[in-house]
Amino acid sequence: MFKKGSKLYSIRKFKCPRCHEGDLYKSSLVSMQGIYNMHESCPKCKQDFQKEPGFYWGAMYIGYGLSSGYMLSAMVLCIFVFNFTVNQSFVAAIIGGVLFVPLIARLARAIWINIYVKYNPSAIKD
Ligand SMILES: [Zn+2]
Repeated sequence: MFKKGSKLYSIRKFKCPRCHEGDLYKSSLVSMQGIYNMHESCPKCKQDFQKEPGFYWGAMYIGYGLSSGYMLSAMVLCIFVFNFTVNQSFVAAIIGGVLFVPLIARLARAIWINIYVKYNPSAIKD
């Protein structure tokens, strides 16, 4: 399921959706060099990551869904597992949410480009 060749591999590893070899982002999240620090094209197969101006606007819908899922999960976890009050749960979920924003934003872009680009291992040219 998470093996090379599946969309989940590309999304989870932030790899190029076409070759699954090149990185989508120039730096890791913890390097603090920007959330959207993407390559313009794949370093391995030259797949264009900026397909058109405003291509990643649609990723906001994915990010909205991911954020909503996170908030709902965090609230349920805080209230029913940790026995926090509703207000304490909101504070904990929002603090956690701020920490997860960069990861959710990158995941949303990776999912979005994986919707439009198919895996093609023969795309790598030497
Ligand atoms: Zn590639």
